[in-house]
Amino acid sequence: MIENKFPGKDISEDDIKNKFPLAAKKNEQHKSILNINGHQIGGNNLVIFAGPNMVESEKLIIQTAQSVKENGAHFLRGGAFKPLTFPYRSEKYNETREDGLKWLKKAKEETGIGIVTEIMEERYLDLICETADILQIGSRNMQNFPFLTACAKTQKPILLKRHYGASLRDWLGAAEYILYEGNKNLILCERGVSVPHTHRDTSRFLLDLQVIPAIKEISHLPIISDPSHATFWSPWVQSMTLASVAAGADGIMLEVHPDPKNAAVDPLQPIDFNEFKVLMEKVSKLKKAL
Ligand code: PEP
Ligand code: MN
Repeated sequence: MIENKFPGKDISEDDIKNKFPLAAKKNEQHKSILNINGHQIGGNNLVIFAGPNMVESEKLIIQTAQSVKENGAHFLRGGAFKPLTFPYRSEKYNETREDGLKWLKKAKEETGIGIVTEIMEERYLDLICETADILQIGSRNMQNFPFLTACAKTQKPILLKRHYGASLRDWLGAAEYILYEGNKNLILCERGVSVPHTHRDTSRFLLDLQVIPAIKEISHLPIISDPSHATFWSPWVQSMTLASVAAGADGIMLEVHPDPKNAAVDPLQPIDFNEFKVLMEKVSKLKKAL
């Protein structure tokens, strides 16, 4: 009989030893503390990733980089290459892919902030690696195994978002593909899971707060939370950010836009510059209290 690690969960001691030995903790104290662009991730401090959903223009990204950095962000997020649900792209998107990377690079040169941006196809790896300090592998590519391997081989730090339909077991399996290539700079990101029918009135996705302590129990990897994608609704971002910090997240990813209502993609989810500032003050107080 294989003993389960958690009540009612599908992870066994055998999985931990044989399916994801590299992602699993070796002992209670085992904890990976990464150092990326001079920032510790997985240590005692909370790492903040903030920025727009999409890199819409040079002005927008530079202005956002300055504002979020000034108010406590450690990394600028923003998609130049984006997984859009429907193929009917705005003209803005068609213009911004390669240019978006250039604008991100410029934002880094002007502010010194590190860059996390999504990679969707292996053929863009060299190009995106020139700009990104951290490669974001989005929810939709979490189980694209040859792609995970190709990204891992670059030895660039990787942010692996959880697929919204993936179990913790699936997610750690995907993480193992990256660690297996000798790439130890891996951060996990919870971004909301598919909503059961009982919760469809409230949410597009459901932030799985419990996965944070679950990861901490099984794995040494740092885990961050993305309440913007999980809630899809900016009025709830503040409380779910604070809840994620209380649950033990090592960092938070937030969508921040100077003019959320007019954001090119997903205008319901970003918070504005002032909301970000206020939230960072609350986060800092909460972190101290904890
Ligand atoms: C994003 O971070 O912009 C994104 C597309 O996220 P996800 O892959 O979690 O949907
Ligand atoms: Mn998005």
